Amino acid sequence: MFIEQLPNWVRRLYPGVKWREDATSKVIYLTFDDGPIPEVTPWVLDVLDRYEIKATFFCVGDNVRKHPEVYQEVLRRGHRVGNHTFNHLRGFEIGCSRYVENVHKASEWIESDLFRPPHGQLRYAQLDALLPEYRIVQWDVISRDYNGKLKPEKVLNIVKRYARNGSIVVFHDSIKAEKNMKFALPKALDYWIKQGFTFRTLE
Ligand SMILES: [Zn+2]
Repeated sequence: MFIEQLPNWVRRLYPGVKWREDATSKVIYLTFDDGPIPEVTPWVLDVLDRYEIKATFFCVGDNVRKHPEVYQEVLRRGHRVGNHTFNHLRGFEIGCSRYVENVHKASEWIESDLFRPPHGQLRYAQLDALLPEYRIVQWDVISRDYNGKLKPEKVLNIVKRYARNGSIVVFHDSIKAEKNMKFALPKALDYWIKQGFTFRTLE
């Protein structure tokens, strides 16, 4: 379906943006957005440890400010982090300079050359302003775990159905996504491992 896996013509509208890694190797790139928060992020870290998987966490700067110990734990366990703005801004609703300012504010808390725009929203001016500084990453598969109207089984089916070689898959370590993500993540990992996939942090 359109939302879970955007067609190539949409992806091509954003030159320079990463949607998928190498399609020839059986590797999945797990990403977790919107944390770090003490209610959910440690649970994700424990699951990933159990499977010996490293992932990439796109952190909201203000959450890092509020929960530095959770952020440090993400790093300590060997995961990669990325910038997801300081206030989780919607790019379509805000001018370029304020947007970039907010990204830079987040960079005072998050040391990374990776950036993912919240809600996938990025205007061309914002893209142009950020591309020299950041590797901008969208996704190949979005789990829609944040959607409370979806049953956890549906979220699991989405990621199982759409993930493929080189997929960048999005989950959320957020309160909104907690129920769906906690159900879907371990089952999806079991499924992918059985299929022979391995997992890496974003390049
Ligand atoms: Zn987000």
